[in-house]
Amino acid sequence: MADLQPVRGTHDLLPDALAKHDHVSTTAQKVAGTHGYDKIATPIFEFTQVFDRTLGDTSDVVTKEMYTFEDRGGDSITLRPENTAGVARAFMSNGLTQNVPCKYFYSGPMFRYERPQKGRLRQFHQIGIELIGAAQPIADIEVISCGAAILESLGLKNINLELNTLGDQESRDGYRKTLIDYLMDFKDKLSEDSLNRLEKNPLRVLDSKDEGDKVIVKDAPIYSDHLNQESQDFFGKVCEGLKAAGVNYTLNPRLVRGLDYYCHTAFEFTTTELGAQGTVMAGGRYDGLIKTMGGPQTPGVGWAAGIERLSMLANDPAAKQRPVALVPLGEVAELKALSIAKHLRSEGLRVEMGYGGNMKKRMTRANKINAYAAVVLGEDELAKGVAGLKNLDKGEQTEVSLDQLAIALKDIQS
Ligand code: ATP
Ligand code: MG
Repeated sequence: MADLQPVRGTHDLLPDALAKHDHVSTTAQKVAGTHGYDKIATPIFEFTQVFDRTLGDTSDVVTKEMYTFEDRGGDSITLRPENTAGVARAFMSNGLTQNVPCKYFYSGPMFRYERPQKGRLRQFHQIGIELIGAAQPIADIEVISCGAAILESLGLKNINLELNTLGDQESRDGYRKTLIDYLMDFKDKLSEDSLNRLEKNPLRVLDSKDEGDKVIVKDAPIYSDHLNQESQDFFGKVCEGLKAAGVNYTLNPRLVRGLDYYCHTAFEFTTTELGAQGTVMAGGRYDGLIKTMGGPQTPGVGWAAGIERLSMLANDPAAKQRPVALVPLGEVAELKALSIAKHLRSEGLRVEMGYGGNMKKRMTRANKINAYAAVVLGEDELAKGVAGLKNLDKGEQTEVSLDQLAIALKDIQS
């Protein structure tokens, strides 16, 4: 029987759970649409280099979390752990580099080999937006505002926007040196992961989840003290613009994004309502990404948000449409019921046929599926062109002519 369980870290989405997911996704798409984003879909697997070249060989995702395999043709393939690299790849493959700015929304499954826990799965789902080809701080502001508007539409409360800047390359190079000097003093106390990152990507040490590292990092030199003027100006404009847009934030100088291609603005929308998995939406500016992938220097900014985490916090989707139960009595009526069902469905009603049993059984089923009305089709009535219409909420029954049935059903529905 063990074989019949879903793979660890994957979930079936039964209809009620899927309705919540879809609600998150469609609400987000709608709000993103009002900000000028159109939906894009890229393949769920790519050549491995799409991810390992871009995410950086020290990132958790690349070193521990990717589902990578060789396909039958001998190519190294990876199930996408995130969608920014895939969208950037699509932007280049489709020759869109002269078409900027491009604005995309996406929604779909991502795959990471992680330790499953609440809000952390191996197949999970993300929504996200990418704004490619805009270098100005107003792009960052708009991207963050769009995220905030989506979270608000979903009814999320107690959300905090944490904001930081990673500066430009020059600032990073300067800080890198200072940070390595500081961390070297703790060389024998740092975790193994952090030691590995020390040379290649010391900024990532700031992001370490190791308790011992956290103590060391607490007193590390602050990056904002090492930003060059240009980076400070850029960040200043982002902060000023967010205020103008009415988006509240708190500065978090320790916030770094886990992936290598980020620069300037980095942000996370967090909540205290999900325990350890508190980040619901995360993103930033990635001006280095497209060039790293072999394209022309093209700036970009975006975010991704986990649908599982959002679903746990979001308001409920609109209740699903209540059905009408057809209750034919006898074989002739059953055949006639098929064409009546077809007609009612074409009028937009949700019609449940029921697949057998006597009147009593069918009525029990009608109640179980929360039908608001039952249409009783007896042979004598059908011969006269009428049907019994039972309002199941009020218990009243009337006789309605078949050509008025759809109207009568819509009447009691409203
Ligand atoms: P974390 O620090 O939680 O591992 P991350 O930095 O790896 O997050 P991102 O790559 O920025 O996450 O992904 C953005 C969002 O996607 C996260 O904030 C979270 O909501 C969601 N997410 C990431 N990994 C998972 C996962 N394994 N299961 C469910 N949701 C996830
Ligand atoms: Mg992670």
